[in-house]
Amino acid sequence: MNQLTIASGGTAHLPICIAEQADIAVQTASKELSHFLRRITGAEFSVRTTDDNPAIRIAVDPSLSEETYRIRCDSTGLTITGGSGRGVNYGVFGFLENVLGVRFYTHDITKVPQCPELILDEMEITESPVFEYRYCDYNMPPEWRVRNGMNAGIPGMFGGSKTYALFVHSFNWLVNPDQYFDTHPEYFSMVNGQRVKHRSQLCLTNPEVIAIATERAKQYLRQNPDATLISVSQNDCYNPCECPECAKIDAENGSHAGSLLHFVNAVAAGIEEEFPHVIVDTLAYQYTRTPPKVIKPRHNVCVRLCSIECCFGHPMETCRHTASFAKVAKTSEQTFQEDLIGWSKICDRIYIWDYVTNYAHYWLPFPNFHVIGPNMRFFAANGVKGVFEEGNGHSVSPDMTEMRTWLLAKLLWNPDFDVEQGIFEFTEAVYGSAAAEIRAYIKLLEKRVTEGNIHFGIYDFPFVGYLDPETLAEAQKLLSAALKKTLTFSERVYVEKAALSIEYAAVAQAALLGQTDHDRMDAMFEKARTLGITRISEWLDWYPSTRILREWSPAKSITENLAGIASIADITPLADVENVISL
Ligand SMILES: [Zn+2]
Ligand SMILES: [Zn+2]
Repeated sequence: MNQLTIASGGTAHLPICIAEQADIAVQTASKELSHFLRRITGAEFSVRTTDDNPAIRIAVDPSLSEETYRIRCDSTGLTITGGSGRGVNYGVFGFLENVLGVRFYTHDITKVPQCPELILDEMEITESPVFEYRYCDYNMPPEWRVRNGMNAGIPGMFGGSKTYALFVHSFNWLVNPDQYFDTHPEYFSMVNGQRVKHRSQLCLTNPEVIAIATERAKQYLRQNPDATLISVSQNDCYNPCECPECAKIDAENGSHAGSLLHFVNAVAAGIEEEFPHVIVDTLAYQYTRTPPKVIKPRHNVCVRLCSIECCFGHPMETCRHTASFAKVAKTSEQTFQEDLIGWSKICDRIYIWDYVTNYAHYWLPFPNFHVIGPNMRFFAANGVKGVFEEGNGHSVSPDMTEMRTWLLAKLLWNPDFDVEQGIFEFTEAVYGSAAAEIRAYIKLLEKRVTEGNIHFGIYDFPFVGYLDPETLAEAQKLLSAALKKTLTFSERVYVEKAALSIEYAAVAQAALLGQTDHDRMDAMFEKARTLGITRISEWLDWYPSTRILREWSPAKSITENLAGIASIADITPLADVENVISL
């Protein structure tokens, strides 16, 4: 056989066949294929539970690993198999994308080539993702995530997710201070000689703490039978325990990761008999980022290394700049790249928690398109097994959320994905006749960051180096030109979102200088509302909430400007805020 006719003249030549007992995920995959083949060829493809020959067959193949898929076209027809229900779905979407040219760009823009005469050559393609855990939390629909190869946030009908019993910052869930502190203060961090209840961690060498946490972890796992991971990880603050026992282990290991792993290994050993398939995941975050010198993670432990202090304007492999708030975090002098290489020598399951937006200003441009490829390849080259790209999980961001997350999804599947080419085809498809201006805007910021050697982090101020007056004016010019193009309704929405990002930079800069134009600010918020963009920053009441932005006075200090926002003190000490804001 040389060629197989799938459809011609509006008629399907083959049925889609699945097993009679096919599970829900295989049924979904067959319906998705039928749907898209109809849109491509104009022909109706029935889904049957018969064993036709030739046919389009969709099935689980248990000889493949869970997320591997295989596409085979020969004289028996077209066969798409995967190692699991989700793997089968990756197979169907991989076929649509890589063989037929379909693209799942955004929740509302899918490119579907028209091909009424669909004839396939003989082929055999086997594909597997490079990382075992692939997630980016930008607000995209679950079906978009699975179509683009992610494996978290996926509904059961597409084969489900890689599931955590507890996700992150879980110490308080394992040993609750409200339940235990009053009777057992020794369960919690000793800081400057005092046991601390709020913004605290656990005393990681206390055997009773280990026993309680282990039992609690087992309870969570019994309640979540689908979970294959459980997070046993520090709270989102500092204050590691300085009691003599914890301090001794940390001194031996040259890192607070010493006492952390002592604890996590003990919990991992304690759950293993009942849950041999579960991995205990912990964080190497801020004060635990540096790998320990002596202790090693157990075989059923995953270390999730967090890049929070990094510069995101240059590839992590080469830029040694560290955000100044790292000093508050008491992170060691070692750089992130040294820490990653160090962990890779003692740990065979490293996940990365990476950051792809500005959390203090979700709306500011975050010009990192040129580093996401090199960073993903740096992770892969150091044996990383999973990557979480944290974006804006609250709302849509004006800063090209949709393109950013599509590019990240492609890189999560294959770190060698060509981002430059991806940007070209995405902008052509989504921004229409404004695509060239949008690409010029991306290049403008990239050039400014690269040529100006500008480092930036995830909490930078609107006066960050790449938003200097000349660059801002040039960006405004490009986006105004983009908005003047003849655009479809959808293209205009995407261009307006990108333009809002630069408008926000200008408005926020003016506000900080005490030059607020209230009409312009009102118009900006109204535009954001119509675009469905609601959230300015990760913390609703932190700078720059709309209220603080409106009332900001350059005559007052940062602390005075923030005074009266009571709950800020609950989130983080003002000293930390000042440190972050004054970067
Ligand atoms: Zn302790
Ligand atoms: Zn840098």
